[in-house]
Amino acid sequence: MNTKFIFVLGGVTSSLGKGIMSASLAKLLQARDLSVTIQKFDPYINVDPGTLNPYEHGECYVTEDGAETDLDLGHYERFLNVYTTKANNITTGRIYQSVIEREREGVYLGKTVQVIPHITDEIKRRMLLLSKTQKYDVIITEIGGTVGDIESLPFVEAVRQLQWELPEENCLVIHLTLVPYLKAAKELKTKPTQHSVRMLQQNGVQPDLIVCRTEYPIPQEMKRKVALFCNVRPNAVIEILDAKSIYEVPLNMMREQMDEIVLDKMGIKETPAPDLKQWKAFLNRLFHPKVDVDVALVGKYVELQDAYKSILESFIHAGAANECKVRIHYVHSEQLDEQNVAEKLGEMHGVLVAPGFGERGVSGKIVAARYAREHQIPFFGICLGMQMAVVEYARNVMGIKKANTTEIEPNVDEPIIDLMEDQKRLATKGGTMRLGGYTCLISEGSLAHKIYGKTEIRERHRHRYEVNNHYVPRMEAAGMYASGQNPDTGLVEIVELSNHPFFIGVQFHPELKSTPENPQPIFVSFVKAAKEYKERQDNKNA
Ligand code: GLN
Repeated sequence: MNTKFIFVLGGVTSSLGKGIMSASLAKLLQARDLSVTIQKFDPYINVDPGTLNPYEHGECYVTEDGAETDLDLGHYERFLNVYTTKANNITTGRIYQSVIEREREGVYLGKTVQVIPHITDEIKRRMLLLSKTQKYDVIITEIGGTVGDIESLPFVEAVRQLQWELPEENCLVIHLTLVPYLKAAKELKTKPTQHSVRMLQQNGVQPDLIVCRTEYPIPQEMKRKVALFCNVRPNAVIEILDAKSIYEVPLNMMREQMDEIVLDKMGIKETPAPDLKQWKAFLNRLFHPKVDVDVALVGKYVELQDAYKSILESFIHAGAANECKVRIHYVHSEQLDEQNVAEKLGEMHGVLVAPGFGERGVSGKIVAARYAREHQIPFFGICLGMQMAVVEYARNVMGIKKANTTEIEPNVDEPIIDLMEDQKRLATKGGTMRLGGYTCLISEGSLAHKIYGKTEIRERHRHRYEVNNHYVPRMEAAGMYASGQNPDTGLVEIVELSNHPFFIGVQFHPELKSTPENPQPIFVSFVKAAKEYKERQDNKNA
């Protein structure tokens, strides 16, 4: 079978869940034994989202091969349970960068370099690229932004050309729109969808499928009307109702027979019925928890849900694995201090201190780590969260009052967290952190060993600073152990305390590898520890 290409474009408004829809469709196709991948094309000019503040587009997701990407790639990996790569996220910036580099090399010598054909050719080349490097039955391409945006135009034009160039049954265009409900009129409205499809048609693209996001079921008659005015077959208008959980969306789409319609339109015959046993078992555990726990997420981007997307999703996976509902309480690290810490963390059954960059909110993270350590509350520090737990331990247990990270105090006397030599020489910021998957060796008998059940693991990274190995002997003598280390560099990957029921800090980002079907072990053990802590507290109070 030739690779089939599905393009997903959004209309009416952003935040309709194009990423979730694409991932859900991919899941349904994968469940029918097809090999599927998803890629995202983002119209902004940054070469990658690595230099973006999380307030802009939410968390920056990191792939195994070290690309800093859009958070939708996290959804793709979580739904499909397979890794994406650098090639799965392309931005306008990257497209222009390669065209301009080629222009400087003289590749286009004598020619005027233009959006059409040079930029659109490069977009098309990248859209087809994954099919050249690996055998896929289906490649889903999500175009970021909304139809009608100026910056999306070259991407829409590239889709138009491919719709014309590829054999008809190898190319399918899905348009995701919103059918709003007007409370005052008590009516669903299809006009925004009609306008949005018309705009797409003005750009020469005819959608094959119109997917309508809606809060209420769309009557059959109304679907027929959308089909008529948008020039698609009546069965090509599909609704996606708001779901309790994003992980329910594939099942909702299957109920609408979206997978069958897509297979039929692309001439894919004789696939087995979808096997979603494991997925349904996960949903069943998710929707029927037996207990609940309260976990504090201490960070400085807590106003924005998307900033900690992968962490929140990891808790959903780990909660389901424990048949436990994890209630996350956002604690703003900037507003946390010695005076209010008991009030904010005293009732919690676990404390997670989040990753981050820069000085803002750092003292609150130190306060949180100390409180969890002294009160024997399960503690989990990720990246900056781990670094701050080390600084706290140095100051309050090891007696190194001046300990700090050079990220905040470049000339500090006691740089317990510091830059590696190769990082000191770097002059540029984009893509220069320690990024992607690295091996970590775990000491036998440690908490980390118990959690993973093995001594060699691989987790993803995104940071510049490291625990300064010069301090490790003193740290260990004082009771904080470096239980995981990079075998090549000796860098500290995991720290833990022996005189605490569950205290772990990790330099890597375990949240990037958690999926519903493969929940991340530290998150699973942390939720279990929170459950046990709650039981102990309840017994004490009984
Ligand atoms: N700012 C820290 C560093 O660069 C931690 C990064 C993070 O938490 N992702 O090392």
